[in-house]
Amino acid sequence: MSAGVPMRRRLLVEYLRATVGVRDERVLDAIAAVPREVFVPPSLFPQAYEDYPLEIGDGQTISQPSVVARMLELAAVGERERVLEIGAGSGYQAAVLARLARFVFSVERLPRLAEGARTRLAQLGFRNVSIQVMDGTLGWRAQAPFDVIIVAAAAPAIPQALKEQLVEGGRLVIPVGDLRRQELHLLVRRSEYFEQSVHGPVTFVPLVGKAGYPNGVSSS
Ligand code: SAH
Repeated sequence: MSAGVPMRRRLLVEYLRATVGVRDERVLDAIAAVPREVFVPPSLFPQAYEDYPLEIGDGQTISQPSVVARMLELAAVGERERVLEIGAGSGYQAAVLARLARFVFSVERLPRLAEGARTRLAQLGFRNVSIQVMDGTLGWRAQAPFDVIIVAAAAPAIPQALKEQLVEGGRLVIPVGDLRRQELHLLVRRSEYFEQSVHGPVTFVPLVGKAGYPNGVSSS
């Protein structure tokens, strides 16, 4: 007999704390509260609480829980803050963010995924998330500036528009690198400059758009 969903979710959170080393209790609480199984295709339900990315259709993946946790810990999202997510995908990370922030703006280039994410977030009762279909490499100018911007796809370089759409003290978390492997970068906007640090290897599907990879690149 396999363990039930609440137990498996608790085990995942314990693993994130003990093995991955996630310390931020708000992040762990938010992950403990979001049913990840709702965001994966039914055939992958048994793997919903394993620590790896899963296929969600259209060649895209739901990010690995430990990577979501690391990114959100780096972003240090405050409860009164406004967040921009690039790459809504399944909507899972947007749901976790919605428990941490005041409002989450999330963009997705593939309409079918955006629609699915919207439906799941509405079903779960989230009212502080807005998902739009657009090219996130340009940010979301109409809603800028943001306290936090999280990019959930691999960028060849840091898009200028995202830097410009941060408040002073705002944080940008973004995987930068080639198509096979990237490093997680954290940028903090100070008055005269951006403080930048690098936080270990990750692997994401490509960020495709004007300030990203050209259309037609493949993640496999
Ligand atoms: N955060 C998601 C996982 C994202 S996978 C989750 O929790 O499930 C990366 C997503 O970024 C894919 O859905 C892909 O279509 C999207 N994407 C890639 N380039 C983009 C762009 N320029 N603008 C918006 N979304 C983009």
